[in-house]
Amino acid sequence: MNVAFLGLGAIGRPMAARVAASHSLTVWNRTAERAREFATTTRCQVAPTAAAAVAGAEAVITCLSTSRDVDEVLHGPAGAAPALGFGTLFLDCTSGDPATSRRLETALAKRNIAFADCPVSGGTNGAAAGTLTVMVGGAAETFARARPLLECFGKLIVHVGPVGAGDTIKAVNQVLLAANILSLGEALTAMVKAGVPARAGVEVLNASSGRSFVSEALIPGRVLNGTWPPTFRLALLDKDVGIALDLARQLGLETPLLDLVAARTTAARRTLGESADYLEPIKLDERRSGVEIRG
Ligand code: NDP
Repeated sequence: MNVAFLGLGAIGRPMAARVAASHSLTVWNRTAERAREFATTTRCQVAPTAAAAVAGAEAVITCLSTSRDVDEVLHGPAGAAPALGFGTLFLDCTSGDPATSRRLETALAKRNIAFADCPVSGGTNGAAAGTLTVMVGGAAETFARARPLLECFGKLIVHVGPVGAGDTIKAVNQVLLAANILSLGEALTAMVKAGVPARAGVEVLNASSGRSFVSEALIPGRVLNGTWPPTFRLALLDKDVGIALDLARQLGLETPLLDLVAARTTAARRTLGESADYLEPIKLDERRSGVEIRG
């Protein structure tokens, strides 16, 4: 298949590389240097504009920061939408917001372009290994068309409902992820300050009921060993938490605990900056408490 991939960020790059292994791939990235660098290690064409990338593509995959960015790439000045062929499959792997995804679906449907929101989870390592979880919002026939392509980088690929449903689940996952990170930062610094060796404490927690993906995988793999590899920007997690809270507000729900998670995530983003990694709020707890979670 002729596939266009727009957005070669931290997770877009390994996803696109897996698409290139079984399809004819054209890539575009706003910062052109990143696309050129990608093409030095991956068999693909580099397009000078998003419109040039999608022209002639049977399927388009986007993986940008926000739904707003996808909208801008499609419908902004020099937008790519007019270059999309009639009947194209358009899969947005951005962790997006349901309302914008539904608007995009409606706009593209006028030219028989099938849109699905297909956010992913599993991180940059999962993308490279082809083991991402993909949550797909869209029509059943769009899902059926999309599935073989999504299998390039996805292992568990689930049709979760109409357009916007994938974004909804992703946002819920992300607010739970943020709650885990923030809770572990406070709880583990307290544990260490109380005199418990970090590694022994984490080992016991991970065999007990307080464990989570963050405690089992990220704390041992990134915090205890002090490596903190940057794989996912805190700014993007903050965006995701905002989407979850917007949804709760639209539904008229009170979510005091999640409100606190959102406020703390946004505050950490302000303190740490736009390029900080999503685990770095734990560093703030370390600074506040005067201990480090290492061992
Ligand atoms: P990055 O910040 O690494 O990259 C963002 C990408 O979007 C870059 O290619 C950037 O281009 C592009 N972009 C942003 N704004 C625009 C715009 N207005 N017009 C054109 N291009 C734009 O993000 P990630 O790759 O980490 O994340 C991409 C999406 O995937 C996000 O929605 C994120 O929440 C989600 N995600 C990320 C995961 C991860 O582990 N990193 C895991 C699961 C989901 P440029 O290079 O020019 O800046």
